[in-house]
Amino acid sequence: MRRMGHCAGIIGRVALVLAASAPARASGELGPPLVGARFELRSEGPQVEAREWLAVLEAAWPQYASFFGAAPKLGADERLAVQVHETSEAMNAALERDGVGRIAAGGIYAFKTRKAYFFRQPSAWYTRALLIHECAHQFHARLHGDKDRPGWYAEGVVEHLAQHAWDGTNLQLGIVAPISLEDYPKAALARLDASDFDFAARLADGGFDRPLGMHLVRLLHRRHAADFRAARKKLDAGRPLDPADWARFGRRDKLEAELRAMVAAEQQPFRVGFVDWDARQFEQRDDGPAWSLRGQAQGVVSGAHAARECAWLEFEAAFPERLGRLGAQLDWIATNDHTVLLASRDGVALVQRMTPEGRWTNLLEPRKLPQKDGSTTFGARRLRIERRADEQGAPLAAVLVDGVELLAAPVRNSHFGLAFDSGTVDFTGIRYAPLAPRTDADAKSGSGKAGPKRR
Ligand SMILES: [Zn+2]
Repeated sequence: MRRMGHCAGIIGRVALVLAASAPARASGELGPPLVGARFELRSEGPQVEAREWLAVLEAAWPQYASFFGAAPKLGADERLAVQVHETSEAMNAALERDGVGRIAAGGIYAFKTRKAYFFRQPSAWYTRALLIHECAHQFHARLHGDKDRPGWYAEGVVEHLAQHAWDGTNLQLGIVAPISLEDYPKAALARLDASDFDFAARLADGGFDRPLGMHLVRLLHRRHAADFRAARKKLDAGRPLDPADWARFGRRDKLEAELRAMVAAEQQPFRVGFVDWDARQFEQRDDGPAWSLRGQAQGVVSGAHAARECAWLEFEAAFPERLGRLGAQLDWIATNDHTVLLASRDGVALVQRMTPEGRWTNLLEPRKLPQKDGSTTFGARRLRIERRADEQGAPLAAVLVDGVELLAAPVRNSHFGLAFDSGTVDFTGIRYAPLAPRTDADAKSGSGKAGPKRR
């Protein structure tokens, strides 16, 4: 299957279906080709979205070239062709018409037509990730030929590149994705921690799965650049690495330790509470990393939270024209057990907990936001959530709005984050400090800042 540059497994784990924008034309009918400098893209969906995808690909080209160390030579009027379908059925019908045959995957770069095909995925981020993924296969194949390459390498390369952020203008490839439902770094960590994981055996048979293959490529590319360039000549020719090739990267146990350290250090910072979340920006500032995330939800409370417990978390948000309520995630246990702060446009804030019975309960009396420019309406605000402890040492989430303390609510943990109700919101300048891990000394003396667990 990989002979055709296929991507089995790219669909499947994401079962949540979101309301996609209505296609502009009959099902299965592609729009006119949109032509860029390097790519030509046709989509069944809205043209405004197709133009944005084309812009993503044009921004990806120099970053692909930087990773591969070269770019394919195109003819004077030649573009790499990409087709985006709304459904698996429409994509497979197109693949049959083109003589490629049906596939059980979200997308494919087909050697036969030299086109990339894929269909819309459950989230905006993942659809874009698949676009970057399939076109990276296409770029790779046009640069080094249509060849069946070792799976960990072929898929690892494109998955590494597809971890991205896109804010409508700037594209960042090959980063730790700020948020995604798929969470490959978490999956990679689980694989490494599995009792039956055998690094030596995986090196021998090349049987690294996608999340591990991606991190192995990332490790070799960043930390063993010269040796990896040499190894890639063989891999690009379609041959596996043998034990002598692997030995060039140093001792096997040391390489495994490096891989573990990288996967542990490069965990996704935020987790999806409820879809749909898009990674807009990642910025390395002098005082630490900052992210921008966009949430979208129809008629439901939606949230994203820090993967680690926080000492504090802060962000900025402006109340969009069409939105129900806006606020922060104050704790997170499960979709049916978590706490949010949500404020309406006029600035009335409630702390609400979703209970396992599926009901929202108010934890505190409603509060008015502090005045800004003489008004308590939401407008544009900076929110900061700080972890505190009550007299018994149980955790509290203190909410500060534009530096003024609004309230402190009882919480079960400090997986702080972002929350809103019904609409589309950009949360910008998101920063947080992870809670310092409790030391053995803290545990013995009972002086740990985390306080006793209440459940
Ligand atoms: Zn693939």
